[in-house]
Amino acid sequence: MRIDVITLFPQMLEVIKLYGVVSKAIKNNKIILNLWNLRDFAYDKHKTVDDRPYGGGSGMVLKVEPLVRAIRRIKSTKIRNYKKPWVVYLSPQGKLLNQKIVFDLYKKKWLVLICGRYEGIDERVMKFVNEEISIGDYILTGGEPAAFVVIDAVCRYVKGVVKEKKSLLEESFICKFLDYPQYTRPYSYMNMKVPEVLLSGNHKKIQLYRLKESIRNTYKKRPELLKNIQLNSLEKKLLEEVLKEESGG
Ligand code: SAM
Repeated sequence: MRIDVITLFPQMLEVIKLYGVVSKAIKNNKIILNLWNLRDFAYDKHKTVDDRPYGGGSGMVLKVEPLVRAIRRIKSTKIRNYKKPWVVYLSPQGKLLNQKIVFDLYKKKWLVLICGRYEGIDERVMKFVNEEISIGDYILTGGEPAAFVVIDAVCRYVKGVVKEKKSLLEESFICKFLDYPQYTRPYSYMNMKVPEVLLSGNHKKIQLYRLKESIRNTYKKRPELLKNIQLNSLEKKLLEEVLKEESGG
């Protein structure tokens, strides 16, 4: 996986190279992460990258020339196996990021992420952008936190980043339901005990318990998700049990 980021604050993203499993994959060359400072693509001696908006209004806008110059430069730095990048502008107006979009981005293999600042970027840059992506319906001061989120989520799919393949498949939003509750030692904490079934060693029972608790978690935390899930007969039965239990029946 290759990811190039255009940002005014590369230091904000340098930390990705320092911590956790993604940093290991970068060190092992499984992920190539290039951080490009937008200022290096400014044309004038003051390294100006922003200007006032035409038509008036508050704030500044990132200029078109440095951004397009950066995109072109990145495209020209070809590395074997990475033919054509998919250019993403991180923007509150973009498609809302979800697990499917994360996987689609991973499949592109080479991403260029543009981090906006101030009031955003000159609209003409959009001619060089393949997709606009938002990480939520709220406004950040810049695209860097959004780039961080995209990089982290996408890189989980890179071979070797997540050690156990099963972990990739058994997460909320990847499975039908939200993940089931997890417990680890100690068995008892402040009189709260781990459910007995998890200590039973009976894998069938544990599987059934976890499925039911996944359904319960989804019902309690994100009930709207259940509307779009096709339930099989077992899941229907478990949901009915959950509904009864949750209503005190
Ligand atoms: N004026 C813009 C608007 O209302 O659509 C918002 C600009 S915002 C203050 C500055 C930059 O932060 C944006 O250019 C974008 O790169 C980034 N940004 C802000 N919120 C975001 C979000 N929810 N998802 C992704 N990027 C975001």
